[in-house]
Amino acid sequence: MFKITTNNAEETIEIGERLGKALKKGAIILLSGDLGAGKTVFTKGIARGLDIDKNVTSPTFTLIHQYDGRLPLYHFDIYRILNEEELYDIGYEEYFFGDGVTVVEWPERMEDLRPDEYISINIEKLPDNGRRIIISTVGKGYDYLKGAIA
Ligand code: ADP
Ligand code: MG
Repeated sequence: MFKITTNNAEETIEIGERLGKALKKGAIILLSGDLGAGKTVFTKGIARGLDIDKNVTSPTFTLIHQYDGRLPLYHFDIYRILNEEELYDIGYEEYFFGDGVTVVEWPERMEDLRPDEYISINIEKLPDNGRRIIISTVGKGYDYLKGAIA
């Protein structure tokens, strides 16, 4: 488990970038935290770490945005899904179990479809612009990340 406090959006992007640089294909990141916590900001950092130069914007209405980089990035925001059927409709398995990196904002919305192994990130708002970021991994498949972020 890795914990860090950031004081502004750029610092959060830098943590995301360090993670993004270390990620290997097939990585799944479940990114939780309240509205405005910084999940999309963190994802901008992951994109930077994957050498993606396009601006990452929230896929709130489309559910998914895809970007090409060192590895493809599949950025989900499933806040608005009504049920898990919708994830089957958009073929979520092709992304999750494909050759890219998957980031999911609001993973609480897919509790029953949670993969066996994933990187879990929680961002909590602190007073002012502070954010507490907690990163942990589930499954041995992510042992390669040890020491990559700290
Ligand atoms: P979410 O995707 O979690 O709903 P966003 O990433 O879209 O949230 O927005 C986070 C907002 O908080 C942005 O406007 C960002 O500039 C601001 N912010 C302020 N301080 C921080 C910080 N330390 N880390 C991340 N974002 C921050
Ligand atoms: Mg967001």
